[in-house]
Amino acid sequence: MDVFCVCEEPWEAYYLRHELIDSDNGETLSPEVEDNLKQEGWVFYNHNILAILQCPCCKHTKDRKQYEEKEEMIKTAADLLKDDPDGFLSFMDDCKFIVDEN
Ligand SMILES: [Zn+2]
Repeated sequence: MDVFCVCEEPWEAYYLRHELIDSDNGETLSPEVEDNLKQEGWVFYNHNILAILQCPCCKHTKDRKQYEEKEEMIKTAADLLKDDPDGFLSFMDDCKFIVDEN
């Protein structure tokens, strides 16, 4: 299953959990790991590897205002489902951040 950054870049949940971080703590990032990832352009909400607020694909985007609404959505969902990572994943999968262009 994919999770989406606010920029709509899809990231495979397996990759995030098992390749990007080599962790047995589930979804929670340790401070050192989070610091390292920040250097690469990653920003996560509330140390949650699945709640991506910035990824390497959008780290150079200066106008982050356009992502505000999605950031709020990710934060709200991550808070509501913080004890239910699979629920969070299916929520993300359901909304797929479809943007109504009309
Ligand atoms: Zn991004």
